[in-house]
Amino acid sequence: MSTNTAAAASLEAAIRNVPDFPKPGIQFKDITPVLSDAALFASCIEQLIGSHKPGSIDVVVGIDARGFIFAAPAAIKLGAGFVPVRKKGKLPFDTMEESYDLEYGSNTVAIHTDAIRPGTRILLIDDLLATGGTASAALNLLQKSRAQIVEVVFFIELAFLNGRDRFKGLPIRSLVTY
Ligand code: AMP
Repeated sequence: MSTNTAAAASLEAAIRNVPDFPKPGIQFKDITPVLSDAALFASCIEQLIGSHKPGSIDVVVGIDARGFIFAAPAAIKLGAGFVPVRKKGKLPFDTMEESYDLEYGSNTVAIHTDAIRPGTRILLIDDLLATGGTASAALNLLQKSRAQIVEVVFFIELAFLNGRDRFKGLPIRSLVTY
């Protein structure tokens, strides 16, 4: 594990590792102890926002489902809108979809076709970067909408899975790295 700052180290200390969930061999990073602590949750949102200032971001995009927990408060703090990227079949209006491969099978994420205008300045937030399949599919949807990706930020990064490689050329940051 490595953390970038002392503030991130406090977050890291609260992340609970749950072995073999949801299946054998997975070390699940449980963020609920961070969320239930008022000071840590607030600090986590501040750190995800980083050096971005109100007026510099138009829309914070969060990814279904834990990404929403972080993206929505960050949006309010930045005076920005919030747009969800959801799992297929959840959004009620016209959608664009993007599929990506999993170890077994595939997943599809979707966004409303009218959610992002060309040039919209986006901060993309998710809880955890593993293989990067989910976030890069979300990114593809945003790029098809000709959004301007200001930064992609994760609370946690599992660096040994090299998910970061899918975001070459884009500003990408994580708070706690394993
Ligand atoms: P990936 O598409 O492989 O980058 O997976 C990212 C998504 O899967 C994240 O949004 C996480 O919610 C979830 N995820 C993957 N691995 C873990 C893990 N070890 N602990 C907690 N969540 C995980």
